[in-house]
Amino acid sequence: MLRGRTNGCTLERILPLRHLCTNRADVNLSQVIFFTNRMSGTPKEEVVAKFLDASSRGNEAEVTSLLSAVPSLLEQTDSRGWTALMLAARSGHTAVVQTLLRHGCDRSRVNSSGQTASDVAKFWGHQHVSVLLGEEDGDGVGLENYFGAEPLDRLSAKRTDAAWLEDRKKHPGSVFLLFSDLSPMLHHDQQHLCRLGYEAIKDLLEKPDSLLVFLGVEKRRSSTTGSERALEELPAWFAISSGEDGAALLARCLHGERKCSFASSPHRDLLNLSDEDAGVLAPARALLAWHRRYAFCSTCGSATVSEEGGHKRRCCKQQCPSNRGVHNTCYPRTDPVVIMLVVHPGGNQCLLGRKSVFPAGMFSCLAGFVEPGETLEAAARREVCEESGVRVGAVRYVSCQPWPMPSQLMIGCHCVAVTTDISVDRSEIEEARWFPRQEVMEALLGGESRQSGLILPPKQTIAHQLLRHWISKAANL
Ligand code: ZN
Ligand code: MG
Repeated sequence: MLRGRTNGCTLERILPLRHLCTNRADVNLSQVIFFTNRMSGTPKEEVVAKFLDASSRGNEAEVTSLLSAVPSLLEQTDSRGWTALMLAARSGHTAVVQTLLRHGCDRSRVNSSGQTASDVAKFWGHQHVSVLLGEEDGDGVGLENYFGAEPLDRLSAKRTDAAWLEDRKKHPGSVFLLFSDLSPMLHHDQQHLCRLGYEAIKDLLEKPDSLLVFLGVEKRRSSTTGSERALEELPAWFAISSGEDGAALLARCLHGERKCSFASSPHRDLLNLSDEDAGVLAPARALLAWHRRYAFCSTCGSATVSEEGGHKRRCCKQQCPSNRGVHNTCYPRTDPVVIMLVVHPGGNQCLLGRKSVFPAGMFSCLAGFVEPGETLEAAARREVCEESGVRVGAVRYVSCQPWPMPSQLMIGCHCVAVTTDISVDRSEIEEARWFPRQEVMEALLGGESRQSGLILPPKQTIAHQLLRHWISKAANL
């Protein structure tokens, strides 16, 4: 990277193009750059390097003047795919980040390691910058975990209003997401759920093996115009599951148009969605999976029927005890799982384990279901001890992630170990090891550690985020 002086830097060093701009000594930078642009269409490499360098050093004045001369610099990258925004975020330069955002910089771009500018800021512990970069979701809070976005207002009070739901169902603006065997219909870009209108699915609704779930309405503040909308203007979203096979559904609803298909592997295909669509998919898939497994009453064995927009199942036998009072057998379930990043008492290593089904080289955080009558802390300590033999002291909650495969809530914690000897329970995991911070950092940044070949789970998993969170707290690295 060019590390030239900022003011008084010679034009020759920035742009070796004297032949284009005559021999006039007083030619200014923007004129030179203008010529450069006309010749090549894109800014010269040297200008890009200067711009990126200014961003990473936090020189806001230089960033501004270069941008006003060459607006197309905004989205230029270095050889590793880093934009000016990422470089400024890496060093916590708030003023430069604000300037770049004001110029309309795309904050969702990723570098060749798959990180956004917000990821970079979090990684290096610049909370103020990550908050700035996270403001696009409207709440001023950056999204932490995949599947965790809440793009819809669940509007739970309307679930018991059958007339309102019936009216919304037939509304031309309503959105329907179609599922076959718990797989959603996806656009060919694989990043979006296929949105169907009432006309496309109305025949399907008549079939006895179809099930409709009300997911909510779009939020009052329009994400496109920013204006507040009245309740009746808000498009309602539904999920439908059908007993028909995928090919028949594609033919029925898309009339042979080949723009959509059903996800074939949930664990692979459902991790490529946009954050918003992942946030819609999580409740939709978890609810549909619950309906599929709870067709019969767990109290008396009679058939059950869906009620309240798909958020309740009622037993068909009137005298059934489940129909008197409130029972958790009637409502969708969420299963709590604790997932732990265990830090060595020395602070510089963490405990990771691998299951035999993991790809070669991959290790992840230990995890397990919370048992009845157990606190999160007790569950975390018990699971770590059972799986690795390591004893844990302090347990601290970090963040959580809905995981709709089928309906877990992954509760992410950081734990501090009080013992270090490992003794693995072979029935649960194949191997557990202490990994130095440096190896974890290499694996996070480059996809794999050069020293140990360590591979970590992808960024869509809370295990990845727990590791990132731990690394980001050491700003000296
Ligand atoms: Zn019953
Ligand atoms: Mg376990």
